[in-house]
Amino acid sequence: MVNSELHLKKAREIADLVNNGQIKAVEVAKYFLERAKKLDEKINAFNSFTSELCLKQAAEVDQKILNGEKLPLAGVPIAIKDNICVQNTKTTCSSKMLENFVAPYESTVTNRLWAAGALCIGKTNLDEFAMGSSTEHSAFGPTRNPWDLNRVPGGSSGGSAAAVASRMVPLSLGSDTGGSIRQPAGLCGVVGLKPSYGFVSRFGLIAFASSLDQIGPFAADIEDAQLLLSVIAGSDERDSTSLKNIPSFQAQLERKLNLKDLKVGLIKELMLNDRNAPADLVLKFNESVQSLKEAGAEIKEISLPISTAHALDVYYIIAPAEASSNLARYDGVRYGYRYETATGLNSMYGQTRAKGFGKEVIRRIMIGTYALSAGYYDAYYKKALQVRRLISEEFEKVFADFDILISPTSPMTAFPFGDKLNDPLAMYLCDIATIPANLAGLPAISINCGFDQQNLPIGFQLMAAHGQDQKLMDASFAFESIFKTQTNTESQIPAIAL
Ligand code: GLN
Repeated sequence: MVNSELHLKKAREIADLVNNGQIKAVEVAKYFLERAKKLDEKINAFNSFTSELCLKQAAEVDQKILNGEKLPLAGVPIAIKDNICVQNTKTTCSSKMLENFVAPYESTVTNRLWAAGALCIGKTNLDEFAMGSSTEHSAFGPTRNPWDLNRVPGGSSGGSAAAVASRMVPLSLGSDTGGSIRQPAGLCGVVGLKPSYGFVSRFGLIAFASSLDQIGPFAADIEDAQLLLSVIAGSDERDSTSLKNIPSFQAQLERKLNLKDLKVGLIKELMLNDRNAPADLVLKFNESVQSLKEAGAEIKEISLPISTAHALDVYYIIAPAEASSNLARYDGVRYGYRYETATGLNSMYGQTRAKGFGKEVIRRIMIGTYALSAGYYDAYYKKALQVRRLISEEFEKVFADFDILISPTSPMTAFPFGDKLNDPLAMYLCDIATIPANLAGLPAISINCGFDQQNLPIGFQLMAAHGQDQKLMDASFAFESIFKTQTNTESQIPAIAL
């Protein structure tokens, strides 16, 4: 085994090598820890490395292999977004508020990962409390895009996306409330999946907007994403929103899917044009759609007038409303940061929150508190819930006739630091195409479909009906192989990662 090439291996290949005794999990752990720490000096994808835990887990995996066990993720390194609890490990949400918070318990997803033989490399950077689309709202400095270090990786799971894109790890976990897995996956040229709401347990995910939040995988390709999803998906009695009967979901994909059997709808209102996106992006996306048609896919334009016109407005009422309630617990009493020199209880609450939270989080709490306050509740929050229902119904109707809906993941590729930082609305618009799936609880994924003129990756989004995660993955696998033959696969790894 040539060690210097381990980072170019897929997660499933590493698992095979470890399961077959061709390489020790401990060697894999050392290799990736060293590599990730070195690269991270430039990228800042990690808030912390969990070296000790990683080596301990690796030794345990090696022992199990010696005992004859086979594990689906044997010795596969993974990075965990820093809003998911790993027991006895710092979980900061990239906030000053939780800078020194050590999780007292293990999340369900990470529990499943460690049981499957995965190794925890570290915790990844995010926009504070997962609010943002660029990772610039992190209290610990932004993550850099491996394709161009002067640009954002997207967000909020920017650290997890950049870690996989630069091959510091083959797999990572993110969370997606309005696009936080898919948008950074698109901007970093990797696969990012938001499963159906309820497919993956949220137990141990620090809540942002509980009716929208969902944990999901980042990977270099669909097969690896499928493998990771098959490990983390499943019902969980500790999460009351987890589905009781999760449709059977395999680690394997349907490889012989005939594109002709798939009814694909192209969302008309989300199409890029010269007015809303750069010309090279428009061109490349249209070419990708064309290549699917040439491969036999039947693609029809469909219209989602309510979802596309109102999703953003509805999201920016519901998500902040839920956030204002979820974040009320950070008052200096039980968790994390406390302003010590306050003159009394009220001043302690006020100062703790004013100093512990960053600007964007404060903005969301204020919007949410306003939308929920007496006198405005009916006009804003209740109305938003009503429109949310209409959005779900609109999707249900379309999915009666279609298997998969497609659109660009975002109307832009990676943008320079500072570009949208002082314009919240411009930042919010990054998620115009990703938010509808969260409001309707649908599974949705971003895969790479090529590069713009500056060699920045372009994301292609697929959505399916609720619970059709397997179909989504099978279709993505078929699309991915078509896109890969179009683009030079060599160029799918940024130079910094080679
Ligand atoms: N960018 C969106 C927001 O700022 C979505 C974030 C997310 O999915 N966590 O709320």
